[in-house]
Amino acid sequence: MVSLTFYGGANEIGGNKILLEDKDARIYLDFGESFDFGEDYFYEYLQPRAAHGLEVYFEFDLMPKVPRLYSKKMVERTELKYEKPDIDAVFISHSHSDHVNHLEFLDESIPVYMGHGTHKILEIYHKLYPQLVDIGEHQNINIFKSGDKIKIKHLVIEPIHVEHSIPGAYGFIVHTSRGPLIYTGDLRLHGPQNNMTHEFIEKAAQSKPYAMLSEGTRMGSEQEHNYTELEVEEKVEGIIKASKGIVFAYFSMSNIDRFMSFYRATVRNKKKLVVDSKFAYILDSLKDKIPVLPDVMADDNIQIYFKLAKSGNHEDKDYKVYERKFMPKMVTYQDVSRNQKNIVMHMSFNKLVELVYLQPKNADYIYSSSEHFLEGDENEAERTVLENWMKHFGVKFHKAHCSGHASKQDLERLIKAINPKILIPIHTQKAADFKGFHVNVKIPERGKMMEL
Ligand SMILES: [Zn+2]
Ligand SMILES: [Zn+2]
Repeated sequence: MVSLTFYGGANEIGGNKILLEDKDARIYLDFGESFDFGEDYFYEYLQPRAAHGLEVYFEFDLMPKVPRLYSKKMVERTELKYEKPDIDAVFISHSHSDHVNHLEFLDESIPVYMGHGTHKILEIYHKLYPQLVDIGEHQNINIFKSGDKIKIKHLVIEPIHVEHSIPGAYGFIVHTSRGPLIYTGDLRLHGPQNNMTHEFIEKAAQSKPYAMLSEGTRMGSEQEHNYTELEVEEKVEGIIKASKGIVFAYFSMSNIDRFMSFYRATVRNKKKLVVDSKFAYILDSLKDKIPVLPDVMADDNIQIYFKLAKSGNHEDKDYKVYERKFMPKMVTYQDVSRNQKNIVMHMSFNKLVELVYLQPKNADYIYSSSEHFLEGDENEAERTVLENWMKHFGVKFHKAHCSGHASKQDLERLIKAINPKILIPIHTQKAADFKGFHVNVKIPERGKMMEL
């Protein structure tokens, strides 16, 4: 018998944490954190302290009280007694927090499997944001690539690359005692690497699976136009072309497809793309893995922004060691301010204070990230602050974005092509809608076991 237990990812977008048991084999598919994790009990500076283990989370039922899973340090002050773990492996599909963030709670001896890109991205982000990104001190990390066949007892797990809004994403074909089970991870079909997702679909279909865990992030969004990455690039190019001043752009630094769209649109308009030293570090570190990326040190189209240091200067000692490498390509607020018409500059919400130094004239701002921020009530305060900055500096606001997830139409095509006997919707708030695409939909429930 094969069973699945959903400790996250059931009737929610994100938080995938799914235990698969088959005979004596027990593996987890992803070990992520829900997007609303802890928000009922923690707020701003009211947070569990680093010294705390799982006792704080157990108090509010935020983490499952599962024995033989967590590290000694994490269960020390809880009712769970520390015992040697009984989990054979954890497979990580990609490096987004809703798929990896709770790795830090796991016992360090449990083997963790992840793609080489995911490993690299986690390493980079841990260096830049050690408080935010920390998967713990795992002793047994195994790196896979697309097409590998990994044996865990009698199970064979086959990771296949897919396209998503972060590089290094995978889906899995898990060969169980009942036959192949497909896990999509997060994927899309409307970006420049969609051939990878097509390859995944083809291999998944060929395996003739009996079950599929399918993401359904965009299941609820009816009839919207499915913007492609290419359309985003064209829109961005048009805005840059029409702009009479500096163009600010906000997009996630891990969204490399989006970076490339902005890079190309900037270069075609014969302008310079300005990124800060953190972004430069990310691009520089991923260069080996992603050959299309420009070389930030050699490419004249890219300039690297160093904000004014505490000392009021721009000297070596003002910056972290990893940043100093980029100092030969440094531009300061004076340089950017003087040259506004020729610049497209990455500008996240938290860095808006730079506008005070840059004093933008006739500027445009392209918001190129999840629409969540622009729509949800929970973001209203932040949105108002952004609007105030735009108004204060007379900046014109634009949107240009496409999702990292497959559209409803693409999900339908994908499900029909792979044609599993049982369809299990995960990573969605609209699980019941999958019944329109498939005759045998099983809807998972959080914390419950599903027998297959
Ligand atoms: Zn996700
Ligand atoms: Zn994701």
